[in-house]
Amino acid sequence: MATMESLIGLVNRIQRACTALGDYGGGDHAFSSLWDALPSVAVVGGQSSGKSSVLESVVGRDFLPRGSGIVTRRPLVLQLQKTEDGQEEYAEFGHLPRKRFTDFSLVRKEIQDETDRVTGKTKQISPVPIHLSIYSQMVLVNLTLIDLPGLTKVAIEGQPESIVLEIENMVRSYVEKPNCIILAISPANQDIATSDAIKLAKEVDATGERTFGVLTKLDLMDKGTHALDVLEGRSYRLQHPWVGIVNRSQADINKNVDMLAARRKERDYFASSPDYGHLSSKMGSEYLAKLLSKHLESVIRARIPSITSLITKSIDELESELDHLGRPIAVDAGAQLYTILELCRSFDKIFKEHLDGGRPGGDRIYGVFDNQLPAALRKLPFDRHLSIQNVRKIVSEADGYQPHLIAPEQGYRRLIESSLNYFREPAEASVDAVHFVLKELVRKSLGECQELKRFPSLQSAIAGAGNEALEKFRAEGKKTVTRLVDMESSYLTVDFFRKLPQEIEKFGNQGGNPRENTRENSAATPAFDRHADGHFRRIGSNVSSYVNMVSKTLRNSIPKAVVYCQVKEAKQNLLYYFYTRIGKKEGKQLADLLDEDPALMERRQQCARRLELYRKARDEIDSTSWVR
Ligand code: GDP
Ligand code: MG
Repeated sequence: MATMESLIGLVNRIQRACTALGDYGGGDHAFSSLWDALPSVAVVGGQSSGKSSVLESVVGRDFLPRGSGIVTRRPLVLQLQKTEDGQEEYAEFGHLPRKRFTDFSLVRKEIQDETDRVTGKTKQISPVPIHLSIYSQMVLVNLTLIDLPGLTKVAIEGQPESIVLEIENMVRSYVEKPNCIILAISPANQDIATSDAIKLAKEVDATGERTFGVLTKLDLMDKGTHALDVLEGRSYRLQHPWVGIVNRSQADINKNVDMLAARRKERDYFASSPDYGHLSSKMGSEYLAKLLSKHLESVIRARIPSITSLITKSIDELESELDHLGRPIAVDAGAQLYTILELCRSFDKIFKEHLDGGRPGGDRIYGVFDNQLPAALRKLPFDRHLSIQNVRKIVSEADGYQPHLIAPEQGYRRLIESSLNYFREPAEASVDAVHFVLKELVRKSLGECQELKRFPSLQSAIAGAGNEALEKFRAEGKKTVTRLVDMESSYLTVDFFRKLPQEIEKFGNQGGNPRENTRENSAATPAFDRHADGHFRRIGSNVSSYVNMVSKTLRNSIPKAVVYCQVKEAKQNLLYYFYTRIGKKEGKQLADLLDEDPALMERRQQCARRLELYRKARDEIDSTSWVR
C-alpha cells in the first residue's frame, strides 16, 4: 500500500508541477509534454450521466458545482489523498497554494469562480485545468481523476452553437493520449448504443484496453429490466470489467444524504439485488475506486522507466539549449556591470589574438610596413622634382637677384625641404592603412565573440567605443608621423654634406666660376659655368642622395610611430574610455546595454522553468526509486 500511495502521489506531484507550467493534457506546447507521459484517469460522459456523482462518491464529499446546462467548463484535476482518521480534512487549489479549504461548499464556489476567471462569464470553455487536491479520510484511495466537461448535443443558455464541438474536441484532446485511462460513464436508463462516452472511447481506444466502463443509475432502470448484458460485457466488450454504480438521486441530494449513508445504500442495493447479487463484490463506487487505483498504480510502475528516460533526455536537451542561449542576466547593477566587463574582456581577448597571432589579421599590419610603405616611398616623384630644370628653377629662385657665389645654400635648403614634404603623404597613408586594419579587426572580433551575440546593444556600444578609440589613436599616429617628417626638415644632417666630394670653388679672374670635381665631371670639364647643366645635375643628385637617406630613416621610423601610437594603444587601451564611462552608468543604462531579443529572453525563461520541472520530477522519481 505504501508503494501504491507513493507512486500515485509521485505522479500527482509531477502533474501539479506540470500544470503550473502550462503543460497539461489539452494545451499545445512549445516543449515535449511531460504530462502526456504520465498516466492519468479522465472521466468522460454525456450531460447528467452521473460523472460528478461518481467523483463525489469516490471522494466522499459534496464539492462539485451543480446545475443544469454545461457546468463543468474547465477540466478539473482532482488529486485524492487519503489521510488517517483524526487528521484534518481539507482541500487545496493549485492556484491558491497556501489556502486550506475546510468547508467544501466554499470549494464548490471556488471552482465556479476560478472557471469564470479564465473563461469569463460568457460560459465559454477552456482546456486549462483547475487543480484541486483533497486530503480526507473519506477518500477511498489515492487517485488522480480528471473531470471533463460533459459531452452534449445542444448548446443552451446563450452558449454558442460551436460549444458542442469545442467540448468534444477538448475532451478528445485529453482522452486520445495513449497514457490516459478513460473512465467512460454511461447511464443505465439509456440505451448503451447511444452512449456519448462509449462512442468517444471507441474512437480513441478501439481495443478497449484503457477504457473502464461505468454504468450509473442502475436504480433508475424500468422495473423488470436489468443491465446484465452491459455489465457482463456482452453489449460492448472492454478489456476491463464493467462496474455498475448507484449514486445519490436528486432527491437524496436535496435531502442532504451524506456520503457514508449513500455508500451504505449502494452496498445494500447490490447485495440485495436479485439481478446483480452474484456480481455484488465487483460493483459500486468503492470497488471502482480500488480497481482504478490498482490499475493506475500498475500503469505508473510500468511507465516509470520510459518517464525517467524522457526526463533525462529532456534535461540534456534543455541544458544544451540553455548553454546555447547563454546564462540569464543578473538584475542588480553591480552584477550587470560585472557581466558587461566580462563580455568586454571576451571581446578584447579575441581582438588581441588577432593582433598577436593565433587569429588572422595582425599580419596585415606588417604588410603595410613591409610592402605598402616602401612601395609608396619608391613612387614619390623625386625624379621629376629633382630634374635639372626644376633644380635650376628652385635654386635660381632661391638666389634671387644675386646668384650664389660658392654653393647654393638656400637652393639646397629649398630643394630638400620641398622634397621632404613629399614624405607626409605616404606617412599618413600608413597611419590610415593600419587604422583600417584595426577597425576591421574590431568588427571581426565582435562577430567572433559568441557571448556577445545575445546583446546587440552592448555589441554596438563596444563597436562604437572601439572605433572612437581607434580614431583617437589615428589622430595621434598622424601627429607623430608628421612630426617625424617635420623633424627631418627642421635640421638637416650636416655630416652628409661634409662627406660630399667638395666642389673646387675657384674665384678666378675668369669670373669666379665654381668648378666641379665629381667623379663624372672633374676629368671632363676643368672649369665650369655655374649655370651649366652639370652643376644643377650635381645639386639634384646630392639632394636626391640626401632624400634617399631620409627615406630609409622614415621607412624604419614610421612603423615604430604607428605601432607605438595605434597598434600598441589598441592592444592595451582600446576600451579604456568605454570602461571609464561605463563605471559611471546607472542601473537602467546598464540594463539597457544588456537588453536582449525579447523572444530569446522568453525562451530562456521557459527553458529554465522547464528544466526546473524536469529536475524536480527526476528528484521525485529518485526518491521513490525503491519501488522499482
Ligand atoms: P453529470 O452531469 O454527469 O455530472 O451528472 P450528475 O452527477 O450531476 O448527475 C445528474 C443527475 O443525476 C443528478 O441529479 C444526480 O443526482 C442524478 N444521478 C446520478 N447518478 C445517479 C444514480 O446512480 N442514481 C440516481 N437515482 N440518480 C443519479
Ligand atoms: Mg457534472
